Amino acid sequence: MRAKTRIRQPASVYMTRPAKTAFALLLLAAMALAFVSCTPREQRFSMSWFDYFDTVITLTVYADDRAVFGEMSGKTGECFERYHRLFDIYNEYEGVNNLASVNRMAGEEVAVDADVIELLMLGREYERLTDGALNIAMGAVLKLWHDARENAAKDPQNASIPDEDALRAAAQHCDIDKMIIDAERSTVTLLDAEMSVDVGAIAKGYAADRAADILKGYGCPFLLNCGGAVLAYGVKPDGESWTAGILDPSGTGFIETVDVSDTALSTSGSYLRTFSAGGRDYGHIIDPATLMPADKTVSMSVMIPADAGACFADALSTACFILGPERAAELLAAAEGAEGIFVGGSGKTSHIGKKR
Ligand code: ADP
Ligand code: MG
Repeated sequence: MRAKTRIRQPASVYMTRPAKTAFALLLLAAMALAFVSCTPREQRFSMSWFDYFDTVITLTVYADDRAVFGEMSGKTGECFERYHRLFDIYNEYEGVNNLASVNRMAGEEVAVDADVIELLMLGREYERLTDGALNIAMGAVLKLWHDARENAAKDPQNASIPDEDALRAAAQHCDIDKMIIDAERSTVTLLDAEMSVDVGAIAKGYAADRAADILKGYGCPFLLNCGGAVLAYGVKPDGESWTAGILDPSGTGFIETVDVSDTALSTSGSYLRTFSAGGRDYGHIIDPATLMPADKTVSMSVMIPADAGACFADALSTACFILGPERAAELLAAAEGAEGIFVGGSGKTSHIGKKR
């Protein structure tokens, strides 16, 4: 029988910026870019990556031996590297057309990998499902907020939010119906040369799903945490479920610990990637209705059955965050087996859907 504290050790789902930095530095100091740990008796292995999707990715597995885990983690790393490159909207890489290429060549037909096509098609589906709240074709607007955040990081004294007229002008170039996908030819054309795609809301979940497709083949219980997009399959060898902690947005502890075995969990929060300007904080999730950071809640977590996918959970958590508790309840009611946990400004949590 293992110590209770060990069994209950939650996976870190979402961290405040200082906690995330401290966590990353601690791990970096100990092990450069990646680490492997193993408790021989339990054969529990874990490895983290810090180079992909601007976040920390951690894989934890119970396996028979180190060689099996070595293979699983090797393939997981390759998988995240591949999707990191394909879905990067800021940098292009030699020999491949990625989303940065699609954005740069807006107005032209661009040949892309089949996975890029699939992600964009999912994005289109989520836009319909969320009544436009989640719109991956909103790159023009999101870029203005992204630049404001970057400028604020470089020069906090002169931080400012995007100009209202510039936001309104950018909003004229966010029509997802102008993103033409030819799945047979594996091409995408942004008909509006001033539009761009931003898949930040769903890319991590998609990559986690593809990694899980590989990992499931090994038949070992595992938990994959890609910066808040979590997928866990099976139970631990002692029959205990995998658990994940939902971070307290106002502190460093967990506000709630949830059972995530055979579950996809995603958390979207306004408190991680923020910047301050004129004494106010601005989050990174933008409400298309106001073109301003969504502020109906502080943190939103969505849990769905694992087979529905981390990409869907990722999309739902961002959309529910934007829509706020009431409209989120309608959206989650339409997603089979979905459960939501809101954390409001007062730190109070509210649950939507059946507690599984
Ligand atoms: P995180 O990436 O911090 O885990 P999310 O999954 O909620 O959080 O995604 C936030 C990202 O989604 C933003 O950084 C931005 O790239 C993108 N985004 C923000 N607002 C929207 C929106 N309304 N529709 C589509 N994508 C959005
Ligand atoms: Mg998301």
